[in-house]
Amino acid sequence: MKVALIQPSQGHYIGFHHVALTEPLGLEAVAGALASHDLCMLDMRLDRNLEKFLTANKPDAVGVAIPFTTAVYAGQAVLKTVHRVLPKAFTFVGGHHAALNPSDFLGRCDVIVAGEGEEVAPELLARVEAGEDYSDLKGLTFLKDGEPVFTGERSLISDLNQLPLVNRKITEPYAERYFFRDMVPVTMIETARGCPYRCTFCSVWKFNRGRYRQKNPERVLEEIKLAPTKHILFSDDNFMSNVSRTERIAQLIKESGIKKSYGCQARTDTIAKHPDMIRRLRDAGLRWVLIGFESFDEEHLNKLNKKNNVEANMEAVKVLHDNDIEIWAAFIVDPDFGRNDFRLLQKYIRKLKVSSCQITVLTPLPGTDLFAEKLHQLTSKNYELFDFFHAVLPTKLPLKQFYREFCKLYRRVSLISNIKMAFKSPSNFSLDNIVQGIQLYNNMLRAKSYLKGHFRAEPK
Ligand code: SF4
Repeated sequence: MKVALIQPSQGHYIGFHHVALTEPLGLEAVAGALASHDLCMLDMRLDRNLEKFLTANKPDAVGVAIPFTTAVYAGQAVLKTVHRVLPKAFTFVGGHHAALNPSDFLGRCDVIVAGEGEEVAPELLARVEAGEDYSDLKGLTFLKDGEPVFTGERSLISDLNQLPLVNRKITEPYAERYFFRDMVPVTMIETARGCPYRCTFCSVWKFNRGRYRQKNPERVLEEIKLAPTKHILFSDDNFMSNVSRTERIAQLIKESGIKKSYGCQARTDTIAKHPDMIRRLRDAGLRWVLIGFESFDEEHLNKLNKKNNVEANMEAVKVLHDNDIEIWAAFIVDPDFGRNDFRLLQKYIRKLKVSSCQITVLTPLPGTDLFAEKLHQLTSKNYELFDFFHAVLPTKLPLKQFYREFCKLYRRVSLISNIKMAFKSPSNFSLDNIVQGIQLYNNMLRAKSYLKGHFRAEPK
């Protein structure tokens, strides 16, 4: 069966595309499990010519990934085009957002896959290919006689070491253009799924139903050996959570003699408590860590259920600086911020002396606890505003002033470091990139750009 996998573009949004455009790991993982099919792939973040792709490949089935809320409208538009160009093609949708919010795609595709695609996609497509009923397969949502049907929860994959290896052949034409910060090109490696913590704004633990599953260090090393690039980003949201496993991974990399550079995401409390682990990771090639510091204020951290504290933040910075590991720090601006809160956050970021930072607006992503808690307060349900740079909750300051303060903060603590980082790699020096970078920063630093989003009509 000819199967097309599509990563939609991200729609109109002020987002992270200036700092990251990574391989669509979810689709590559599904592709790894669909080895018996004839596969093709379109990454619409880099190539928008969907009609040409569909006409040239004529797939029997089309799978669309919706990992983020901002990709919903673009994903819906993809499905419309698929149905127009290939009315007989079977269509299925998956990814974090789709799995947690299947109603956004009901009636727009044949099936929405809830949960992990590696298991269900091959079973589903085998049934479709044989012309058989699939309504007894767990983990699917679809419309039947105009009514939504959910076939029941499918168990999570218990042993991630048994997963097929991801298929990077399907993304080969784009591989050189995937990047993360100054890591160009970069390969993503997933070493675990889920997280033991329960931050209210996070969809990771929700999607993984509160479970934390890990690949063993030997499997991780096997995947590192197969990575085609020098730069590797561990895609886990909390890479160091299991300290002994992390130390073993570092040890295996060191013993293997592999010379690559690594980036990951981690929590400050783990780093602060385990400086030896950080030293081992540095010796193995760890260059930088993305950390969600989130706030200068203990009370705010508690509100987010972060289960961490400002003291651990300071200590973690020291440990990482002592080991020459760069910090990419993430902070959250609460819509409830007054002018003084912006000042205090600015002061705090400066005090931490991190090499670069991202500041986002607290966003209740659909499917998270925060969304359930704040549903009645949402000022917009336009998914394009759920890009972490717009306020979809009422702001304490008038909206225009809120964005002015937000832009001022960005300009003061992040502009120079982000420009430096963007141009660290020679491959970023193309005229297109420079023009795009100037436009993007011009947009990001003007309150007007953010306000515009609030007046843009929701795509149908
Ligand atoms: S620690 Fe990070 S990955 Fe874990 S729940 Fe919190 S935000 Fe999500």
